[in-house]
Amino acid sequence: MDLLSDLKRLLPLAGSRLSADEPMAAHTSFRIGGPADIFFEPASDDEIILMASYCQERDIPLTILGNGSNILVADAGIRGVVIAIGEPMAGIIQQDDLVMAGAGTRLATLSSWAANHGLSGLEFASGIPGTLGGAILMNAGAYDHCMAEVMVLTEFLDEKLQVSAVVRQEHQFAYRSSIFERRCLIITRACLQLTPDEPQAIIARIADLNQRRRASQPLELPSAGSAFKRPAGYYASKLISDCGLKGCRIGDAQVSEKHAGFIVNVGKACATDTRRLFKYVRQVVADRTGVTLEPEVRFIGDWQHWEPDGDQG
Ligand SMILES: Cc1cc2nc3c(=O)[nH]c(=O)nc-3n(C[C@H](O)[C@H](O)[C@H](O)COP(=O)(O)OP(=O)(O)OC[C@H]3O[C@@H](n4cnc5c(N)ncnc54)[C@H](O)[C@@H]3O)c2cc1C
Repeated sequence: MDLLSDLKRLLPLAGSRLSADEPMAAHTSFRIGGPADIFFEPASDDEIILMASYCQERDIPLTILGNGSNILVADAGIRGVVIAIGEPMAGIIQQDDLVMAGAGTRLATLSSWAANHGLSGLEFASGIPGTLGGAILMNAGAYDHCMAEVMVLTEFLDEKLQVSAVVRQEHQFAYRSSIFERRCLIITRACLQLTPDEPQAIIARIADLNQRRRASQPLELPSAGSAFKRPAGYYASKLISDCGLKGCRIGDAQVSEKHAGFIVNVGKACATDTRRLFKYVRQVVADRTGVTLEPEVRFIGDWQHWEPDGDQG
């Protein structure tokens, strides 16, 4: 029996949430990426545990994703199983100023839900196109605020697929990083503490931030947000711009003309050209300024043979 048929027997309710040879370009904000052998959108912890233990028992590689807005997937795709924690694992409940949400909840949804319920603290997140799970892992942030400020508790499945949780400081949040970046854990839901405020005031702040975002970022083109992390003491976009790299292009991958911190897909960019552009920008900035840029975007999937010269850069 092939893998998909076997998995359909294991997860009889999965229906169209389970597929084979799924083009990842359809599941990433970059609109780039080859096929995942198996793509699964779970609807419960039990489904995640069933799928993950099936993979562990057979040594099948497992990749956990959210909304695919901070990743570049290889042209060769992703071997093994992708578990994408999205809409079927979304949901929000509230008790006073505490909000519990599923890892698949979109940040934009959570932010506007909080605003409408008179809870402030997630205005910064309204324009970030990821899920709560992805945002916790990355300690996503914008406009001088980040997830670390509102997180109380995160529930996850550990390496043995046991339910566990971290509270407050145990998240080990740092700039675009958390404990989840360093361990292979599956975030399932989280509790945030927000601050009561007037809904109209919160909604106005969100509108202002979204206006600023639209004015400065190339939201009309596919991308994965900021290409590089902010190096200590510098702004990546200014370094890139000062090196004359705005508009620099390899194939259909381009350093945005509007915001040099973004690499955008201006047509049918492939992952290899896009990663080459990351590498080129990094090289030029390092040569001219001495600053080494670290990608914020994560390179996911089968990148084994992406550079024909063997330089994996
Ligand atoms: C136009 C645009 C603007 C952006 N602006 C910002 C911004 O202002 N600030 C910012 O910080 N980011 C920004 N981003 C990047 C991105 O949206 C965030 O990093 C977001 O938090 C990623 O969430 P995701 O669900 O898409 O994660 P994915 O891209 O799917 O995954 C990112 C990482 O998280 C892991 N992951 C995802 N979900 C889980 C889970 N449930 N359990 C365990 N691991 C998980 C994945 O393995 C992967 O390593 C932007 C992106 C775009 C396209």
